Amino acid sequence: MRIVADGAVPIPSSIVDKVFDTVVIGGGTAGCVVASRLSESPNHHVLLIEAGADHSRAREPESVLDTFPRSYTDPQFTWPGLVAAQRESGAAEPFIQARVLGGGSMVMGMHALRGLPADFEEWQDAGATGWGWDGVRPYFQKLEHDLERDIGPYGTKGPIPIWRHSPKEWPPFAQALASVLASGGFARGEDVNSSSEDGLYPMPYNTHGGVRITAPKAYLKEGVRRRQNLTILTQAFVRKLLLSDRQAQAVLIDVQGRSVAIRARQFVLSAGAIQSPAILLRSGIGPASHLRECGINVAADRPGVGSNLLNHPMLRVACRLKTGKRHPHAIRPHGNSVLRYSSQKDGCPASDMLMFILGKTSWHPLGETIGALGMSVYKSYSRGEIRLNQSADQDLPKISFRLLSDERDLERMTDAFGFAAALLAHDTVSPMISKVFVPGKSPLISRLALPGFRNHLLSYGLSKAMDIAPPLERWLIRLVSAAYDAAAPKRELRDFVREATVGMFHPCGTCRMGSTSDPDVVVGPDGGVVGFRNLIVADASIMPTIPRANTFLSTLMIGEKISDHIACE
Ligand SMILES: Cc1cc2nc3c(=O)[nH]c(=O)nc-3n(C[C@H](O)[C@H](O)[C@H](O)COP(=O)(O)OP(=O)(O)OC[C@H]3O[C@@H](n4cnc5c(N)ncnc54)[C@H](O)[C@@H]3O)c2cc1C
Repeated sequence: MRIVADGAVPIPSSIVDKVFDTVVIGGGTAGCVVASRLSESPNHHVLLIEAGADHSRAREPESVLDTFPRSYTDPQFTWPGLVAAQRESGAAEPFIQARVLGGGSMVMGMHALRGLPADFEEWQDAGATGWGWDGVRPYFQKLEHDLERDIGPYGTKGPIPIWRHSPKEWPPFAQALASVLASGGFARGEDVNSSSEDGLYPMPYNTHGGVRITAPKAYLKEGVRRRQNLTILTQAFVRKLLLSDRQAQAVLIDVQGRSVAIRARQFVLSAGAIQSPAILLRSGIGPASHLRECGINVAADRPGVGSNLLNHPMLRVACRLKTGKRHPHAIRPHGNSVLRYSSQKDGCPASDMLMFILGKTSWHPLGETIGALGMSVYKSYSRGEIRLNQSADQDLPKISFRLLSDERDLERMTDAFGFAAALLAHDTVSPMISKVFVPGKSPLISRLALPGFRNHLLSYGLSKAMDIAPPLERWLIRLVSAAYDAAAPKRELRDFVREATVGMFHPCGTCRMGSTSDPDVVVGPDGGVVGFRNLIVADASIMPTIPRANTFLSTLMIGEKISDHIACE
């Protein structure tokens, strides 16, 4: 009998007494791939451990299935109490990361972008031999199932469907912006994933038949879950690895209020870019001085663990759309199209910027009246770090992104803000809009985004009242906006942009992959932690640099490629 345990039932002795071939730590995007692929071999016994609950055993919750990403505001799917400092100065703010079987795939925006071939050439140049475009492309193809194309560079049989919203069905706001961009010389492309050119493209989504396809749905289907050699343990928190002789001997987990050690021949860390470095640090692998400050015995001095924290910064320029020009409720995806363009700044590569055209900004009736241009530096250079708290509670790490601390990022984001403001002020677009604004850090916005009938009703009432009373609309928008003066001198504008920019949900780079002779590298090109024989990292944390794409597809690709490597050994 296959065993599927969760934190709600006693942990079977068959888990505690067994020595698994592989324990996969973290059942998120990459963890689901690794557990699924490694257990294809019937003699390879795999245990997948996840801190969150399993909501994918039967039909997933409606908020997860919805192709508007409603689930990310639902606290049952995310880490409670996780905060991050976005800027070099300023307090830490709540930061959303998934804590659920399926990880980010259960809450993400479903924008399925591959990145540019040059992104992966950059990985190879950074010492990740074999991870250039020719080395990674077969794994993108292996995981994808393009719903519209069955020839050329696309994957056609993989578990992750790729769907695009036909331009003919784009709502009025997206159509108007498309025509303005065309008149500004931006080309229209068919597929952002197979083209490296700048231009406006339909947004690819990992959805099929109007529902989200998550990593568990794609990789842990019923047939996979029935495998005798795959065990899934949820609601179990991995505290640390027990190390000796440069090997991981066991993993120590907290489950049902007790601490349990589980043994395996090999451990694959797939806890994501925030938690994988934290687990290594708690286990004694990291910068020696930091470990000592935290009272942790040093097993290996690896300064790179937790450094090189990368993310895409985003500034949303929002607008309340007039009635008749709004995103129809029935069109669930919020971003129909994406513009890739080049900042042409010194020291920055081509195609370094992305603009998301968002027809709505929340699941509730008021959010459906507000569109936005999401401006982002997609080849960003600012780097932050993950560290442990020195206090007794080291479960949640200290996260500092230091967004826009690199001058190139700040400069490009300031220009992007000007670009967005000009687009929304264009004669073709502005008649659709009653008010342009930059959302501030308003508790009202966060509270209203929480799921529930009460918020649905409240936002419906607010939206109707704003439609009939323009002074109320102006007052309410002012209440939740970050104040700015578009005519202010550039220096002041830069300060405003620095304050108003937030991190996207694409942390990566904190267990950087590269040449094993580089002292700052954490894992070699096979994913193995330098200096350890049976410890591998496979998730977004190993990316040496950030790709010019949202990170879901690249993370699946990492899971596929490392699984393949392990299986071939
Ligand atoms: C709100 C949101 C929106 C996003 N939108 C998009 C998008 O539209 N497109 C896109 O490409 N990408 C998007 N992403 C990013 C994408 O989801 C991530 O890049 C991807 O999921 C990373 O995969 P991972 O396996 O590295 O980590 P995760 O998917 O985060 O998985 C890590 C897993 O490990 C578990 N874990 C962590 N620590 C422990 C522990 N100590 N013990 C046990 N389990 C543990 C976590 O609970 C989690 O399930 C989004 C992410 C978020 C959060």
